[in-house]
Amino acid sequence: MHPSSTDLTDAQRSALELLRSADSFLLIGHERPDGDCVGAQGALAQVLRSLGKEVVILNPDPPAGHFEYLLSEGPYTVFDGANVPAHDVCVLLDFNVLSRAGKLADSLAAAPSKKMVIDHHPPAEPDEDPWWDEAFVDVSASATGILVYRIARLLGVEADVQMARAVFTSLVTDTGWFRYSNTDAETLHTAAEMIAAGVVPNDLFDAIYQQTGAGEPHAIGALLSRTEYFAGGRLAVVDLPLERVDGVPALEDGDPVLDILRAVGTVEVVLFLRVREPGVCKLSARSKSDYDVNALAKKFGGGGHAKAAGATIRGSLADVRARLIEAAVSGFPAR
Ligand code: 5GP
Ligand code: MN
Repeated sequence: MHPSSTDLTDAQRSALELLRSADSFLLIGHERPDGDCVGAQGALAQVLRSLGKEVVILNPDPPAGHFEYLLSEGPYTVFDGANVPAHDVCVLLDFNVLSRAGKLADSLAAAPSKKMVIDHHPPAEPDEDPWWDEAFVDVSASATGILVYRIARLLGVEADVQMARAVFTSLVTDTGWFRYSNTDAETLHTAAEMIAAGVVPNDLFDAIYQQTGAGEPHAIGALLSRTEYFAGGRLAVVDLPLERVDGVPALEDGDPVLDILRAVGTVEVVLFLRVREPGVCKLSARSKSDYDVNALAKKFGGGGHAKAAGATIRGSLADVRARLIEAAVSGFPAR
């Protein structure tokens, strides 16, 4: 079940060697870091610290409030726009496109450090030479956190309860609590090991999913009432204009909305579009069929996985929405 060093690709072995040999690390997450991202950062920080290395976790944005329970594994520092601490190796977790580091991207590119990617996303530009020096990538892994746990095992580090909570957070947030198609034997096996190491699943469920604000049901209700179907019911589209954020409490987490729309029997693809700021829309796309939403997101400058992808798209909501629906509908094979 667990990889031995003989199962590794040459690239993975080389990445592992750098983790073993270097002294100081900067662990970088993507914009608006999600549970997998902060879980992987927290777990890797502990692995490296237990090997006596210096570690700083740095993100372009703070983790969502409901991941506060993980902060004991942090601290999760947020880029101040000026200083990136000196480091030997910059590890990017849960993404492989430098621009996803947001306002950190330029400073990281300029830093004279080795760049390492630990990730489970398909490379955005598979035909181009990678921009990183080292990579520990497996696109079949359900979460980046599971890759960090593989690394922990390979480096001979045991999971204590703190690390176990971080890895478990990665697993449950990227698999929709073990419901999505990426849930595999390694996921459940690793989850069982994390429980054996001290994770209480219900405590994490409560912390992640049962602490929303009192306005959240109203926000979700208002949003869901805007649902429209296309492609004979195979496509569901919902959007959140910026102006609705005032008056109606802003939605904290889009996943509950995406889950409800995805539950509709005819629906294969869900598009959730929200206005981040005037002229900037954020797409979250989900698929429960063979429909590849990564391919769709890529047409709009984004990316992700075949069944969960996103993009940040410039334009008015009406314009972006119309372009997206047209592209999405044309992606269904004729019946
Ligand atoms: P979410 O919809 O939860 O924000 O993201 C779903 C998936 O799409 C994640 O795997 C995430 O990495 C990816 N994703 C979300 N937004 C973007 C984006 O703007 N660019 C790229 N390349 N990927 C994104
Ligand atoms: Mn992930």
